[in-house]
Amino acid sequence: MDEIYASLGLSPEVYAFGEQVLAGLKDRFAAVDAAAEYNQAKVLGAMQKCRVSSACFATSTGYGYNDLGRDTLEEVYAAVFHTEAALVRPQITCGTHALALALGANLRPGDELMSPVGAPYDTLEEVIGIRPSAGSLAEFGISYRQADLLPDGDFDWDAIRAAITPRTKLITIQRSKGYATRPSLSVEQIGRLIAFCKSVKPDVLCMVDNCYGEFVQTVEPSDVGADMVVGSLIKNPGGGLAAAGGYICGTAPCVEQCARRLTAPGLGKEVGANLGQLPSMYQGLFLAPTVTAGALKGAIFAANIYEKLGFACVPNASEPRHDIIQAVTLGSPERMEAFCLGIQAAAPVDSHVTPVPWPMPGYDSDVIMAAGAFVQGSSIELSADGPIRPPYAVYFQGGLTWYHAKTGILMSLQKLYERGLVRLEGDNK
Ligand SMILES: *Cc1c(COP(=O)(O)O)cnc(C)c1O
Repeated sequence: MDEIYASLGLSPEVYAFGEQVLAGLKDRFAAVDAAAEYNQAKVLGAMQKCRVSSACFATSTGYGYNDLGRDTLEEVYAAVFHTEAALVRPQITCGTHALALALGANLRPGDELMSPVGAPYDTLEEVIGIRPSAGSLAEFGISYRQADLLPDGDFDWDAIRAAITPRTKLITIQRSKGYATRPSLSVEQIGRLIAFCKSVKPDVLCMVDNCYGEFVQTVEPSDVGADMVVGSLIKNPGGGLAAAGGYICGTAPCVEQCARRLTAPGLGKEVGANLGQLPSMYQGLFLAPTVTAGALKGAIFAANIYEKLGFACVPNASEPRHDIIQAVTLGSPERMEAFCLGIQAAAPVDSHVTPVPWPMPGYDSDVIMAAGAFVQGSSIELSADGPIRPPYAVYFQGGLTWYHAKTGILMSLQKLYERGLVRLEGDNK
């Protein structure tokens, strides 16, 4: 084994360090496998119940009227997430688009949007108008308010109650930490939050940004009261195979609004050619529970490696996981670059290129991204990224298989080690 890893460029010290860490993770990995087994049965059962057949894989073009495969895939998603309806389309271009769609479709001028979990994901700042932007919700007279999390990461119940006003129409809850070092939320925590918000204002809609959270637990936010759950198909639920797309699962009225916004009033879900994307969307969903499990093992391995070296990790080495993201605070731009270089060098695609920071659209500082993916920008595939700003944290995620995630993490350590940016013994703080 050490020979094949040496042929990929790993030095014996780095490999041995990894094996030593891995030896302590058997119980953690068994729990991840158990969740994957449950979720595999959940997805399988949904496909059977919805009578997925080979006729569902046909390509449709043009208007896409009477698209059995598209309609059935949406039924499957609704069955998996236990919702009344779903909108799952390659025409939803990414997670940000899915979220902007869900918000824009369900809010009207004069309404207020509220986040009880602090600032939303970077790209939503322009969607909402927190950073002024043409076409933002703010331009349409939709205001925004937030209640920050307490310093220990708990909900600030008093601030949340105060932030819910007669105008509050929709509450947006981000499950994953995004580019922040706050903890990600468990489905149980989200359930308590939704119950509280609805006790303050019973008719308020609750939307969960479910990005990176799908299939990590055996329940989803839609099992605990969310009116909409929203995410990207080039993250967990696409299983690495979906070439593009996003989903919104939720109540029939909310999803209908989204469909009318995505296409047009009067058209709704009836149009939207599948353009040949359905086989990979179905098969990706089928694989998603095990792909997510591989990514989770990678995240646990990374936290245990880097914490042992003295770097702060969110989540830390031992705490429960609610998404597939691993934040590692490396403390300097040089370490961020070396880490990302290692992830890139471990990729099956573009392993020879060097990631450099760039001003990515939607983000307000330069971002470095390492990704050698089959699908452009796919972050269920092995990838690492982070904004070049203090505390210089990289966000590591994905890996279509556990073994690939393992290789990537070891290679990130290799590059740090080679450049003299970490020592394998002792504390690197
Ligand atoms: C990835 C992500 C999004 C959406 O990002 P896209 O790159 O547009 O798909 C939104 N919220 C969170 C928490 C995310 O992780």
